Amino acid sequence: MSELQIDRIGLKVGLEIHQQLATDKKLFCSCMPTESEEYPIKFSRKLRVAKSELGEYDPTAIFERSKDKTIIYYANPASSCLVEQDEEPPHEVNRKAKEIVLLIASSLKSAIFSEIHVMRKLVIDGSNTSGFQRTMLVAQGGYLDVDGKKIGVQSICLEEDAARLLSDTVETREYSLDRLGIPLVEIALEPVSGKPAEIKKIALTLGRLLRATKKVERGLGSIRQDVNISIEGGNIIEVKGVQKLDQLEKVIEYEAKRQHGLIIIADRLKKMEIDRIAKERDVKDVTEIFKNCKSKIIQKALKETSIVKAIRIKKFSGMFGFEPYEGIRLGKQLAEVVRFFGLGGVFHSDELPNYGIEDVEIQRIKNTLELEQKDGFLLLAGDLQKIDVVVESIIKRVEDAKTGVPAETRAATATGETIFLRPRPGASRMYPETDVPPLTVTKEELAGIQKKMPKSWIETLSNLQKMYQLNAQLAEQILDSSYLDLFERICQDKRISPNFVASVLCGTITNLERQGLDSRLLKPAEILNAFQFLAEGKIAKESLEMIFEKIMSGDVHSVVDAIEKAAISKMDAMELDNLLTDIVESNLKIIQEDGLRSIDPLMGIVMKTMRGKVDGQIINKILMEKIREKLNSKN
Ligand SMILES: [Zn+2]
Repeated sequence: MSELQIDRIGLKVGLEIHQQLATDKKLFCSCMPTESEEYPIKFSRKLRVAKSELGEYDPTAIFERSKDKTIIYYANPASSCLVEQDEEPPHEVNRKAKEIVLLIASSLKSAIFSEIHVMRKLVIDGSNTSGFQRTMLVAQGGYLDVDGKKIGVQSICLEEDAARLLSDTVETREYSLDRLGIPLVEIALEPVSGKPAEIKKIALTLGRLLRATKKVERGLGSIRQDVNISIEGGNIIEVKGVQKLDQLEKVIEYEAKRQHGLIIIADRLKKMEIDRIAKERDVKDVTEIFKNCKSKIIQKALKETSIVKAIRIKKFSGMFGFEPYEGIRLGKQLAEVVRFFGLGGVFHSDELPNYGIEDVEIQRIKNTLELEQKDGFLLLAGDLQKIDVVVESIIKRVEDAKTGVPAETRAATATGETIFLRPRPGASRMYPETDVPPLTVTKEELAGIQKKMPKSWIETLSNLQKMYQLNAQLAEQILDSSYLDLFERICQDKRISPNFVASVLCGTITNLERQGLDSRLLKPAEILNAFQFLAEGKIAKESLEMIFEKIMSGDVHSVVDAIEKAAISKMDAMELDNLLTDIVESNLKIIQEDGLRSIDPLMGIVMKTMRGKVDGQIINKILMEKIREKLNSKN
């Protein structure tokens, strides 16, 4: 294994950013773009093979069909209507959404079309009830200024967001309709070469430009990036669903390593001159061999009317497990494809005997397949109906390994790796939406947009700093966070220090998140409540962290409950005074020895029992008075 030289492999990255727009209605109906928690309406559809109106079957559609799934949709009338259910044609385009996109396109100096046509883009994963996503090409060209370097803009589209995926199993896939139809801007940037950190900077800058308009949604899931990543000698890989900037950097690093690893594997395979796999000759039904096998995966599969197939691959011994970079193996790539079809797994000869498959079975497979010493094999167990499709896909994937990086769509994982999602879709997937007339963009409209142009990020930052007397770092954190609106609302109450608010929103909550707690449980209204209680003197500053911790861990749902549960209401002054007197009296020795410096150890003792109940500054003040009193009375 070696270290990847990431700047020597011709890495190219194209970003495609999808950002939800902040409107009070959806793109093609009057539903509110809110997330529902209950879904009184439920209906289902079979995934259909979409024969596009251009008359060609889409290869990905057939591929999805082979998975044979039922799609279940959940809906709430508060966030969806008959339009989302595809029972009613779309209404006219949301004017506000159009205006925001024109504003964004102007900010990027992109050339805006005078006529905008609504198109249907075929989607086959069930994420849209109609089987397509509506999209409008609004502008082309322009650039994003990243530290003086111009990053080209390819296109800017206004489109509808897809339904939200709730679950995905072999038989069913579940979506909620609340997100379907929320207006999105899609911005595709020209592919650029550069290190992952530089690409991250581009994404950060574009995100800042969008947020500077103050007309886009914030928060996790409101901005998503698809990333096209390629290296020299490989195909373009589309990675979907990157939600965070740190994840973006990791995904690019992982893909660079994976793709270069696959090219190293391909180079080795080319030198070996391996024959193509012939299905008739190289694939054998070996179910009989496994009747008494100890492997749990295989036994489970055999119970469900499944069969086991073995594939012979000449000269392949050692190639499944060959690891040019850490974690990059052909065996892993094959396993991803198999798992995609919902099969339990694939075993390859480099990892056997293992997993309950023993020498005796391996020997019999070798005999059946007539293996020579350097040959390798794959074992697949699966449903009789499905296994042939999977065997074909696996054979194709092994053949593709000889050329390096097969074109495919992959999904980003939370840890910054990528997994196989599906083959790359065919090109001809768009056709006109006849239910919605084209939009026009007039010169007057564009002139009006010019007057509403947002301030630059730098200017916004400096204004924020001045307005709230924030230090530069906190101002930047607040501006980049999803809490800017909330911050401004909380700071309307002049009794609370903006610096403190910013440090709680960007520090305390983030720290709790890092400890594994869920910030989505902490609703903005509750944060607002907590600061309200603080301003009214009902709780101490120190209590905030504890309250948020209780809510984010799912212990309680509201600030009121958290206060009740932890009994962190303020003590009355008398109670506090008595307690502090007690502590002073029982630590006279320390006070005599250390004088005024005894405040530190004493504060430590007090805070241990009082944490969160009373403001530390108040305790410090009273305690100091009492120590002074004591010292004076002694002299
Ligand atoms: Zn609707």
